[in-house]
Amino acid sequence: MTATVEKKTFCGICEASCGLIATVQADRVLELRPDPDHPASRGFACSKGVQFHNVVTDPDRVLYPMRRLPDGTFARASWREAFDDIGARLRREQREHGNEAIGVLWGNPIAWNYAAAVTTVGLAAALGTKHHYSSASIDVNNYWAAAHIMYGATAINLLPDFADTHFALILGANPVVSHGSLVTTGRIRDVLLDIPARGGQVVVVDPRRTETATLFEHVPILPGADPWLLGAMLGVMFREDLIDQHAVRTQTAGIDGLRELARLFDLETAAARSGIDAATITQLARDMAAAPTACAYGRCGASLGKFSTLTKFLLDALSVVTGNVDRRGGMVLGREDVARRPTDIGPQCDKRFDQNSGLDRHMQRADDARTGQRFAVAVFRAQGHQAGHFGFCDIKFLAAIGGKANVFNDVIVGHRGIPFQKIGYVSYI
Ligand code: SF4
Repeated sequence: MTATVEKKTFCGICEASCGLIATVQADRVLELRPDPDHPASRGFACSKGVQFHNVVTDPDRVLYPMRRLPDGTFARASWREAFDDIGARLRREQREHGNEAIGVLWGNPIAWNYAAAVTTVGLAAALGTKHHYSSASIDVNNYWAAAHIMYGATAINLLPDFADTHFALILGANPVVSHGSLVTTGRIRDVLLDIPARGGQVVVVDPRRTETATLFEHVPILPGADPWLLGAMLGVMFREDLIDQHAVRTQTAGIDGLRELARLFDLETAAARSGIDAATITQLARDMAAAPTACAYGRCGASLGKFSTLTKFLLDALSVVTGNVDRRGGMVLGREDVARRPTDIGPQCDKRFDQNSGLDRHMQRADDARTGQRFAVAVFRAQGHQAGHFGFCDIKFLAAIGGKANVFNDVIVGHRGIPFQKIGYVSYI
């Protein structure tokens, strides 16, 4: 009988990338279990991760092309037949309806696989279609849209460094059940519980008393009112001079426009619209600004609700003005020194942004220790002339609260003035 061996590996289902140990016999995985020595997941893995070897051996797994027959049953086809058939059908669609009639969709297994991801992007390019969707198209598009507005590239994602933070604002997310998304943190429940245990504060803003909310300070909010809360917090920070002037000076452009925007979120109106009293909003702003480090994190609830791009924009704006962008314990980026001054940001930087932006919080930390202050972001760059293309629903929103859409335009338009539509992203707002 062939001997079994233990191999270290990791789960590729979600971004937490939990460490696993595989028991392997003759190239067959017999068992997966959490790796207690993995530095991030430290012995945690959810049921999906430890069951994944059963997917590989499932008798229903499709191992070769299957062609659907007219009666609805399937018959095996060769790879040659399958490629020829698919190619002919794609060409027919292009001929009859144009390249834009074809869309490309990928899911997490492609997203975590560089070769497959690059190939899929190449396929879309070869087909000449801009319709490119992923699992993230469902609930993360507001991240991409806000990133393009604020940083000039869609792939810039600030990740909350919960493991080191003193203050965590969690909006519309339930990470102790979901295990976190766009957090890249294994053992998220323990990591969050550690924050108050070391004297910090976790505030969960959610209409529902979620499993996460029951563990921490819960601030109920009326559905769809996220921008009112965040905008009003921003207003308090500006009015009470709680802004990190050094961060604003070194990391931003166009801060006056943001100040003007924040003025639109009148505290009393925000309280009425959000269901959160003015004193609580004010205290939240003060607590976040006073914390040595702070994160402002929103996920599905904040990403799928009304005005979700504006919500993400304001979440990041809170982190920016409090000096918590690209800072340990704040909202962290990838590992490369992309741009040190706002003036460095330009079309030539986008490629580097996209290559280097980040999901690797741990690498970020290592680089923090090595290089210290490294990253400057250009936010709030004003280019009013292209503004009509951007955030059209946000503009409606602002018009609804005071008819100051022109101010909003000047504040948030992306530095290259490219409409979302041209780069294939559609905001949910
Ligand atoms: S949380 Fe679950 S699915 Fe995600 S990486 Fe860990 S084991 Fe895999």
